[in-house]
Amino acid sequence: MTPESKKKMPGEVRELLQSIPKVDELLGRLEERGYDIGQQVKLSVREVLESCREEILAGQLTDPEDLAFENLADRVEERLHRRTAPNFRGLINGTGVVIHTNLGRSVLPDEAMAMIARVGGGYSNLEFDLETGRRGSRYSLVEDLLRELTGAEAGLVVNNNAAAVLLCLDTLAKGREVVVSRGQLVEIGGSFRIPDVMARSGARLVEVGATNRTHLRDYEGSIGEDTALLLKVHTSNYRMIGFASEVPLTEMVELAGRHGLPVMEDLGSGCLLDLSRFGLIKEPTVGEVIESGVDVVTFSGDKLLGGPQAGIILGRREIIDKIKGNPMTRALRIDKFTLAGLEAVLRLYYDEETALARIPTLAMLSMGKDKIAAKARRLVRRLKKGLSGVCSISIVDTGSRVGGGAMPEQDLPSKAVALRPGAISVNELEERLRGSEVPVIGRIEHDLFLLDMRTVADKEILPLAGIILKAFGAV
Ligand SMILES: *Cc1c(COP(=O)(O)O)cnc(C)c1O
Repeated sequence: MTPESKKKMPGEVRELLQSIPKVDELLGRLEERGYDIGQQVKLSVREVLESCREEILAGQLTDPEDLAFENLADRVEERLHRRTAPNFRGLINGTGVVIHTNLGRSVLPDEAMAMIARVGGGYSNLEFDLETGRRGSRYSLVEDLLRELTGAEAGLVVNNNAAAVLLCLDTLAKGREVVVSRGQLVEIGGSFRIPDVMARSGARLVEVGATNRTHLRDYEGSIGEDTALLLKVHTSNYRMIGFASEVPLTEMVELAGRHGLPVMEDLGSGCLLDLSRFGLIKEPTVGEVIESGVDVVTFSGDKLLGGPQAGIILGRREIIDKIKGNPMTRALRIDKFTLAGLEAVLRLYYDEETALARIPTLAMLSMGKDKIAAKARRLVRRLKKGLSGVCSISIVDTGSRVGGGAMPEQDLPSKAVALRPGAISVNELEERLRGSEVPVIGRIEHDLFLLDMRTVADKEILPLAGIILKAFGAV
């Protein structure tokens, strides 16, 4: 601050600024109070004193009492708490979007968490063959499981599905042409666009058909000397309705076969089970896709599979071996925690009922409305007394979403607990719940705060009630 600006400053402001304690002074008093003065306390003290200065200059801090030791100590305590709380935290998902990419996609089953803890806390046979005592391959740890569960000849797993697609294109089509229907040149979100990924892989995109319709003859007409691959992309997150058509995979396979070309499908979500009996749209399972003769298929580990983030590549042995030998594979490789979680999840798939019960993503998607309604009633019972006169509570019909870019038009009938606060706005309530120690994320609809109980686990109901009551100051 220049002496010039000091002169223009009103006397009260100057006095307030002068009464801000020095950093060492405040630290000394905190130490007397029993604080262990480490780096985090020092940084908190500096931040608090700096904010005081800014607030005084902005005319927000005008009462000298605010600079009293007790008040400053409280502010330091609050800062310290925020500084030392983890940035990456668990939260309660009341949005009803089961595979919510922003909220961490799939919730892992207990079996996967146990396996991650077992192998992550010590040394493991990640790349060590216990039978021969020689170097092994991390890919072999889940390859047999994937083969048995899908009927594929071979497979490997990389960092995520985007990496899987990139790797397949780089391996099979670098410098050559890949034929894709115009209707499938999708953007998945987070800047994953098929044409961009194609460009990065060094493959040349050949678009065929019109936006809404592509015919077999379009593919046929575009096959030339430079063609390396026919690619089908699952249009996961959007649906074309009306006068639209795609060529079935089996016809693409037959055409490619005649020209000695491979066919690849980016399945996106990729599910091992048929979920149509729970009212979900019928999508071919990974096994069915393999059976239709595709040469290579890729999908995510953390979408409908319900496992950790991963990109699974399955297909003909010859192609998978080529991919394993691609130097880029090393850069996109899967880590040991993910492999541990994935193996545990895959093992649950050997029995369909076990998979549906134990894998949270599948359990939530197949959950009946009665079970969801029962959870809603349990939450309401816990809230009724504390919120009487403060917030009206009801249970309403709502629609959950699959999420993860799968089945965009699918609404799963569900039940939500609806809160309509009296004294505060619904936006204020949303903000308080989002800002609580365990954040709660819901939806605002028609001036109601909705918590879709499909994505709230049984074990979360009690803590959730506590958080809501606290947000209203009712505990
Ligand atoms: C989700 C998706 C991807 C990207 O998968 P990540 O596992 O998120 O990398 C690629 N293609 C399709 C069709 C998808 O739906």
